Parts: sequence; structure tokens; C-alpha cells
Amino acid sequence: MNSSFSKKLGLISVVFFVLNGLPYEGKAWGFFMHKKINSHAIYLLPPELITLYKNNEFTLKVYATKPDNRRYIDPKEGPRHFIDLDTYDAIDSGFVGLNYSAAKDLYNQCVEDHHEFGQDGILPWHCLLMIHELTEAMKGGRLEDILHISGELGHYISDAHVPLHTTLNYNGQRSGQHGIHGLWESTIPELEFEQYDYWIDEELSYWENPLEKIWSIILDSHNMLFSVFSAEYCVSEDVTIPKYSYRYRQGRAHRTYSKAFCTRYAELCEGHIEERYRQAVHAVASVWFTCWVNAGKPQFHDRVIPINQSDQDELNHPSSCDHH
Ligand SMILES: [Zn+2]
Ligand SMILES: [Zn+2]
Repeated sequence: MNSSFSKKLGLISVVFFVLNGLPYEGKAWGFFMHKKINSHAIYLLPPELITLYKNNEFTLKVYATKPDNRRYIDPKEGPRHFIDLDTYDAIDSGFVGLNYSAAKDLYNQCVEDHHEFGQDGILPWHCLLMIHELTEAMKGGRLEDILHISGELGHYISDAHVPLHTTLNYNGQRSGQHGIHGLWESTIPELEFEQYDYWIDEELSYWENPLEKIWSIILDSHNMLFSVFSAEYCVSEDVTIPKYSYRYRQGRAHRTYSKAFCTRYAELCEGHIEERYRQAVHAVASVWFTCWVNAGKPQFHDRVIPINQSDQDELNHPSSCDHH
């Protein structure tokens, strides 16, 4: 796996490294989808957990988007949402599968000019940290923490399912496809959500090795990049389809992909966005379940934990996603 993956990464790196970057602006799935994923995951839980989570679905939805909101006030937050595998691979082909300290050691061996480890993304390692925190909260029976951490862990696990969170070219800015990030993770799923198949038949999985599991999710995401970009390229080449339309908001015109473009793009994706959504739901439920098993399967009081006023306001008036 590593050698073919490395070759692919190397190729992508060559293409992207000759071009210039833009500041990170991706936010993963959009607020709508993050809330849907956390809500949907609740229904896959076993009887011992489902009541607590169902009673507090509201909190799990609020905390599904907290990590994105935090990006604007905490400079440490941004790198937790992505990992630029192409950048890491250009440094050394051995990063895939490493834990945090091994990755940091390798980075420091290879990079000499005072770049700080982490700026190219720490998504897999942050997921692991949150898994540890959730397990500890469950061991201690701290219900409020359990819900808050579960909600946020759901966010990061969902981010790992988004191909564009695994590349330096996260918004097509290096390939003339600016805007593809929001197209893939917000516009298309929000457009098609009503048609999605909600039934997930697969049993929850217990993650024997969370590090390995998270890396495999990220590699699956990364391996989808070719189809994510090439579908956009194909639709752009079709002269019968207008690429953009304009929406007027507060007196200003905002350019978005046209409806016809989105419809054709979704067709060319052949259901892979829906599939990724369903896999994210399954993974979020599985990771909550794994933490609970590792905490010794504690019994919780299934009560509703009151939510504070600012969280309440946030859910009622969510910030809009700035992908568009
Ligand atoms: Zn994103
Ligand atoms: Zn995110």
C-alpha cells in the first residue's frame, strides 16, 4: 500500500508544488451536513447508549459545528481539520500510519528551516486525542463532557471522510478549480440530501486499532481526489452547461456553480458523495461505541443535559458556511 500510495502522492505533489497556495478556507461538509451526520449516527448506537445520545441530540448538533466556529478565534484550531498528505509525502514518504510523536520526529529530522510541525495538518492525530478524551470522560461518567466531546469528535471524524481535507489543493486553487471544496461537501449534498438512502444496515464496528482505522479513512479520502477533480474538469469542458450563476445577497452578487453544473457534477460522481456521507455516519457511531467499550461499558443516566443560552442561540442562528 505504501509504495503505490507514495508514488501517487509524489505525482500529485509534483503537480501542485509548482503552483502557489492560498490560505486555508475549507470547513468540511458545511454546517448542515455536520449536524446531519451526528444526528444520524445516534440511531446506529446500541441500546445502552442510544437513550443518552437521543435525549441530547440537540447538544450533539450544536457541538457538531463548534470546531469550525473556533477556527476564527483559536489559531491552533485550523490544522486539526485537515492533513495535506501531498505536502507530508513531499517531505518524506513514511508519514502514513505514524502516530503523533513518530510523525513529529520524522518531520523534525527532515525539515530544518524552522517550520513548525503541524502546520500541514494534524487531523488523524487530533482524532486520536479526542478519542482518548472521550474514553476518559466516559470512564468518569462526566455526562456533559461526554456529549460535548462526542459532538466535536463527530466533526473531526467526518472531516476525515472529505477528500479535499487531505490535500494542499483543498479548494482547487492550484488547478484552476476554485470553489470545488464547497461544491463537493456542501452544495451537492445539500442539494441531494432528500434523495439519500438513510438506511445503514452495516453493524457498528469496534475499532481495535483507532490509529490504523483513521489512517485508512484518510487514505480512502485521498484516493478519491482524482475523481473529485476530474469530474469538475469534465463538466467545465462541456460548453452546453453554464458553469456559474449569480445570487444577489445584501446588494452584492455572489458567484456560485450553476444548478445545471451541480446536477451534472453529481451525476459524474456516481454517488460517491452520498457513500462518503454514509461511511462518515457509520464511523462516527463506531468511534463513540469504541470509546464506550474501552471505558468498560459504563452505564449512564439517560438524562437531558441542559444546554446553555449561547449554544442555544448558535443552533437557532447558525453562522453561514463561507465556502460560497
Ligand atoms: Zn471542508
Ligand atoms: Zn472541520
